[in-house]
Amino acid sequence: MITPLYSLDEIKISIDKNTWFRAVKLYRENRVKNFKTQDFGFTALVQGTYLYTVSVNHKNFDVGYCDCYLGQRDILCKHMIAVAIYSLKQGKSLTKEEEQFTDHFEFALHPNLDINNPEQFLILKSQVRTAFKYIRAYTGPSRIWSQYQDNLAKGCAKLRLVLSNLSLNLKTVHFILNILLRLDKKLSYGGVDDSNGIVGGFIEQVVSALSDISSSHREIIQAFKKLLNQRTNFGWEKQLVNIYNEHKHKNEA
Ligand SMILES: [Zn+2]
Repeated sequence: MITPLYSLDEIKISIDKNTWFRAVKLYRENRVKNFKTQDFGFTALVQGTYLYTVSVNHKNFDVGYCDCYLGQRDILCKHMIAVAIYSLKQGKSLTKEEEQFTDHFEFALHPNLDINNPEQFLILKSQVRTAFKYIRAYTGPSRIWSQYQDNLAKGCAKLRLVLSNLSLNLKTVHFILNILLRLDKKLSYGGVDDSNGIVGGFIEQVVSALSDISSSHREIIQAFKKLLNQRTNFGWEKQLVNIYNEHKHKNEA
């Protein structure tokens, strides 16, 4: 039986916000018609400005075809995403949570990854490895610069998804801080061209989430100690170092 091997989350971390919401709109307004399952995946007609013929591979939603302007240039378009959504939801409405496109960092209310579980830790490490593949030095010509920025965004989105689903404890926070320091190193010495502030912005988001959550999870503050003698790119560690120092002070008093 042909079923999609991708998920809504995987779609969301692979495309930009605008494409996602345009595709959701097409789906919600029942513009995906004549949906059919084939040997290779799914086909449908999508009513946009014109009626487009669209196909999507069931293993990989970005492999497929659309006869719109973008699709003909082999660029993943909103019509293909709309068909991918249909293949997952079969016409049922998307929930609010499913529709949401997160580009800020927040720890999940119901985390599904536990760093202390060896199996889940392996999954976690492999997901982080995959994300880091997108965050590499810029070596290409200027014409692929925007594609390079897209890759940085994809890498950060993948990290965002996996880190936000970690159940919070001291070990988790150590792990997260190591990732931030690793990203910071990439900005300093790794040749990453973060002119658009995508990676830097992501670091700031995580720092601010850690800072917020540390007021209700005091036990994680101890982990901030590792930042004491770090000099980072734009001084992002200071906020957490301050929290650590204050906490230490209070406990000593
Ligand atoms: Zn298209």
